[in-house]
Amino acid sequence: MRDLTILSVIPPTTQLNTPYPSTAYLTGFLRSRGVRATQADFSIGLALRLLSPEGLDSIRHRVDALPGASHTASTRYFSAHFEAYRGTLAPVIRFLQGRDPTLAHRIGSRRFLPEGPRFAAVDQYTGGADDGTDPLDWAFGALGHQDLAKHIATLYLNDLADVIRDGVDGRFEFVRYAESLAASQPSFDPLYRALHAPLTLVDEMLKAMTLEALSTHRPDLVLLTAPFPGNVYGAFRIAQAIKATHPSTTVVLGGGYCNTELRELREPRVFEFVDYITLDAGERPVMALIELLQGQRSVQQLVRTHTRSHGYIDAKEPDVAFSACGTPTYDGLPMPDYLSLLDMLNPMHRLWSDGRWNKLTVAHGCYWKQCSFCDVSLDYISRYDLASTDTLIERIESLVAETGQTGFHFVDEAAPPKALKALAAGLIERNLPISWWGNIRFEKSFDTELCQLLADSGCIAVTGGLEVASDRLLKLMKKGVSVEQVARVTRAFSDAGILVHAYLMYGFPTQTVQETVDSLEYVRQLFLNGCIQSGFFHRFTCTVHSPVGLHPEEFGVMLERPTRATFANNDINFIDPTGVDHDLLGVGLKKALFNYMHGMGLDLDVREWFESSPPRGAHRRGRSRGTDSVPASRVPPDFIERALSRATR
Ligand code: SF4
Repeated sequence: MRDLTILSVIPPTTQLNTPYPSTAYLTGFLRSRGVRATQADFSIGLALRLLSPEGLDSIRHRVDALPGASHTASTRYFSAHFEAYRGTLAPVIRFLQGRDPTLAHRIGSRRFLPEGPRFAAVDQYTGGADDGTDPLDWAFGALGHQDLAKHIATLYLNDLADVIRDGVDGRFEFVRYAESLAASQPSFDPLYRALHAPLTLVDEMLKAMTLEALSTHRPDLVLLTAPFPGNVYGAFRIAQAIKATHPSTTVVLGGGYCNTELRELREPRVFEFVDYITLDAGERPVMALIELLQGQRSVQQLVRTHTRSHGYIDAKEPDVAFSACGTPTYDGLPMPDYLSLLDMLNPMHRLWSDGRWNKLTVAHGCYWKQCSFCDVSLDYISRYDLASTDTLIERIESLVAETGQTGFHFVDEAAPPKALKALAAGLIERNLPISWWGNIRFEKSFDTELCQLLADSGCIAVTGGLEVASDRLLKLMKKGVSVEQVARVTRAFSDAGILVHAYLMYGFPTQTVQETVDSLEYVRQLFLNGCIQSGFFHRFTCTVHSPVGLHPEEFGVMLERPTRATFANNDINFIDPTGVDHDLLGVGLKKALFNYMHGMGLDLDVREWFESSPPRGAHRRGRSRGTDSVPASRVPPDFIERALSRATR
């Protein structure tokens, strides 16, 4: 049997502070089965190439060649201050990697780094105060040098990201690349055309990284994991470079994007780039492919795999149990190179961009699996599978030993309360000092006692779905919680010193303007009463795998006739007879939430956020032009306060 070398790759771009965990899971699993496996993160690799002095020279070359009319404020500022950028970039990167903390004093002086258009936002930071306080003093005080410098350095990098977008490649962002070419694209044509267009500087760098990795690792099989649409173009560019130079290397595409969007793939041209596309949890399909390459099984025995020659094959073998998936490993990834960034001035929000978190899941899938907007028919939600507490703790200990980092992010769809309770007790019993945060449902078993236990075990934050804060809609979407219950649970977490982030939604089928206004009022009161510290409003999207997409009539909507998809198939448009302009309302919701997260505007009538130019701070009171177009909230102004006091009686 031939020994194979497997290389798992994170295509650009995902996040800069910590690796996306898919390759760590796969590599850990494959090694546990005796397979020679390694991994590479082209997301951080590409960012660091662009953000090097040589990368900056190449960017300048492209920017200088732009016709005058194509320049933007970002590119003009960059050209005028190029030497300042070039002289400071390497030290700033070292600072953000945590290798040179004393540089904070110089960065914080605001005389060290060039300050491009992104710095205009600094003057808006008021924290609700209107007393002439220096905006950055308000945020960081006298001793917050490190955070102040991190924030300034983040704005500086954001300016450079804008220059890359405006002067080099309009599709580039640090957290997604050319996303629109893949997100719910029924036809492969736009992506195919882009893959045959001349290489941009970003593409050239990606190609160079691919060739270097091939020469270093000499893989027989390359696994490209594409969790999101913003990784797909990068994945295909990598595959293209492999096929052009090493045609005998087998290339496989998998990951969350394929699992949701490529289930009904009927596009032969994708196989000009990749050999196979796997669906759902990767362990079993990848082992089957390895056995195929070793001559141990036939194509007809592959598992959940789109093939060039035989269409879709699924030998329907059971998945590898969660307890048998092995411990993820970050070995092979450049752990000291990740950048800790501080973008938004909100203590909860920073967790997503600041710090190198070890990523684990407490369970596979979701124990609730009922929400009608969720992909409950797909494996990543529907197959609920737990490992024992001992197994979890062994994985935690192993990751701490390997990375030297004690921070964990549990990236479950919804971590089960019972398993969290057992895990917390186990961590305390073994005196294992870690910090952890993760995603949960705001269900009533998270009472004061359990929240305190979780905090004692190292829990620092939780995220969970409140969705549309409306009891009618929460019932319709089968969320299994009420607004009052969410208030009590989130307050129990907050009282235990655990930060709470709420995922919020608008535009659910049959949601009225009144319900949207009321939901914002509930959210305002949740902030005001210290229940939540952060949130994010998502526009509801109907996916073909969710109960709404599968049974629209039960939710009072009609699906638009779907385009015949040969490539991606996930989001689907629907007609809601209520005819509400959710896009317009969404602008107000997002502005309100942004202000609430910075402690501003909590005493304003929620109608004010829906006017054309919303208020800047808490100092403006009273109703103003435009608020007449939305109804007043029907929610009693002390609804959450009363719900909380009932809970303590
Ligand atoms: S939305 Fe969350 S809680 Fe609801 S079914 Fe999906 S994963 Fe589970």
